[in-house]
Amino acid sequence: MSYPRCISKNFSSFDPVELAKKTEDIVCRDEGGSQSRKYTEFYVAGVYRGIVTACCVGCNLRCFFCWSPISRDFPEKYGRYCLPDAVSDAYRRLGSGYGVEKARISCGEPTIGRRHLLEVLKRVEALDQVKLFILETNGILFGADKSYVKEVAKFEKVYVRVSVKAGTPERFEWKTGAQRKFFELQFRAIEHLLDEGVRFHVAAMTDPRIMTSDERRQLLRRLAEIDLWLAKNLEEEDVDPYEATLFRLKKAGVELKW
Ligand code: SF4
Repeated sequence: MSYPRCISKNFSSFDPVELAKKTEDIVCRDEGGSQSRKYTEFYVAGVYRGIVTACCVGCNLRCFFCWSPISRDFPEKYGRYCLPDAVSDAYRRLGSGYGVEKARISCGEPTIGRRHLLEVLKRVEALDQVKLFILETNGILFGADKSYVKEVAKFEKVYVRVSVKAGTPERFEWKTGAQRKFFELQFRAIEHLLDEGVRFHVAAMTDPRIMTSDERRQLLRRLAEIDLWLAKNLEEEDVDPYEATLFRLKKAGVELKW
C-alpha cells in the first residue's frame, strides 16, 4: 500500500495505524537500547501561556487543514534524530531560560514511536522544571491499543488534548485521508482515556467552512453519548491561513474564503 504525502483530488484513502508503523520506521531508530525520534527544532511557543515545544517529524493522518510544517509530508527529508535525554534537556534548558513550566511535542503525531514517547514522559516526571506535559494527539493509536493509554496513565504530569477530526466517517475520510472505517478509533481513544483516569479534554476543527452544522451536531451527540462533560467542554478551532495549510487546501481542491 502506498501513502499520499497530502490529500489531492484523486488520492487513495489509507489505514492510519499502518501508516503510523511506516512513519515510525522513518522517524524513529534504535540507539543504544533507547529509541530516538526525528525533530526539526525546539522552541517556546506562546500558546498555553508559554510552552516548550519539541517539533517532531511525521504523522499518520493527512488533514488538509493541518498547519504543521512540510516535514509532516516528507519525514525522510527533515529533522535529526534525538534521544529522549536530548528532548528532556531541551525542556529543562528552554524552560528555565524563559521561565516556562509546560512542555509538549507538536508539529506531528507524538504517539508514533511509543518507546520514545514513554521514555520522554519518564524523564519529564523527574524534571523539576516541567510541571505539566500536554500530550496533543489525534487519538488513533490510543484508540487502537488500550495498553498504550494504560502506560501513559502512569505519568502524573500528563494532560491529554485529543483532537477529533470529524463528526461522521465520510467527513473523516474526506478531511484526513484515512479510511472511514477508522473513524471510531478517535472515540475509542476517548473511552480508553476515561477508563484509565487520564486527565484530558477534546478539541475539534469545527470551523463552519469545513464542518457543517449537521456534522457538528453529530459530533457533539457522539461525545455526549460517552460523557456529557466532553460535549459541553469541546474546544472548537478555526482554520488559520498558514502557508502549509494553504498549500494543503489547494492540493485537496478545498477553497475557503478568508
Ligand atoms: S492536523 Fe494533526 S493529525 Fe492532522 S495531519 Fe496535522 S499533525 Fe497530523
